[in-house]
Amino acid sequence: MATTRVAIAPMKVAQVPKPGADFEIVEREIPNPDAGQVRIKVQACGVCHSDSLTKDGFPGINYPRVPGHEVAGIIDELGAGVSAWKKGQRVGVGWHGGHDGTCPQCRKGDFRNCRNRKTPGISYDGGYQQYMVAPVEALAAIPESLSDVEAAPLLCAGITTFGALRQSGAVPGDLVAVQGVGGLGHLGIQFANKFGFRVAAIGRGPENAALAKKLGASIYIDSKATNAAEALQKLGGAQMILATAPSSKAMSELIDGLGPNGKLMVIGATFDPIEVTPPQLIFGNHVIQGWAAGTPADSEDTLRFSELTGVRPMIETYPLEKAGEAYARMMSGNAQFRVVLTM
Ligand SMILES: [Zn+2]
Ligand SMILES: [Zn+2]
Repeated sequence: MATTRVAIAPMKVAQVPKPGADFEIVEREIPNPDAGQVRIKVQACGVCHSDSLTKDGFPGINYPRVPGHEVAGIIDELGAGVSAWKKGQRVGVGWHGGHDGTCPQCRKGDFRNCRNRKTPGISYDGGYQQYMVAPVEALAAIPESLSDVEAAPLLCAGITTFGALRQSGAVPGDLVAVQGVGGLGHLGIQFANKFGFRVAAIGRGPENAALAKKLGASIYIDSKATNAAEALQKLGGAQMILATAPSSKAMSELIDGLGPNGKLMVIGATFDPIEVTPPQLIFGNHVIQGWAAGTPADSEDTLRFSELTGVRPMIETYPLEKAGEAYARMMSGNAQFRVVLTM
């Protein structure tokens, strides 16, 4: 009897088998895109602190799960009904991994706050693999002159700092402080400089002073050696403080560095509370606001602005097979500054 042999094309995947478990490298069949989706041949994927949600466990995640929401690659296959994208096109997928288009927020055009918003690596398998499938509303086109490893971190760390700064209300010449010279901060300093702000970088210790200035800060404040809020007040008070380092205590200590109508913009995430008294907000009309990523259209703005102005992430690359090592390096806080997996 004749039998038909079906060739199963395998691919390599770095998956988290269950909450808290180590990464495992496994082979899986290359997935096919459904209607309204594309398959992406992944070229690079950034390793982000938010991947710890998948690694450690978060309500609603189904395991095994493949993390990764800083994905750069090439469209390799189109699902039914996809006409706006073509095979061979370079695309990225960031934190915004899809929206339903029908919920009350989507009906207002506020897709970033979709009540059923999806995130790659959490809602579905992300970019720690050689091929992934994504819905078209998650896709951002990558400009020709940006490499995959450069583009990947811009799709989460980049878009978040870019978005927070561009809608902060600060205008060219304003004093803008960037707290933390790390994965988010090193991009925040560059964007703030290119936006025409007077940039004060705030770090713990003197180590990053020279680098912060090279990235575009005109002032460096060592918050170990001096009271950073007082230092900002001496400069007139900050119109905006971009709080990137995941330390609520450090953020609390900076609130008194805000100038009149100044805003503390929170993008570094920890789960302990920021402390503030009502008078700290009332006198000077101070605002504390949070900010998360943005839509793929915002990603495209971020990528084009970076292309135009030369803003680039500083990266360390690891092969996919070393996903566990790459993740540990990111979590150590010692990476300079974004860790990126290459396939
Ligand atoms: Zn991220
Ligand atoms: Zn929606």
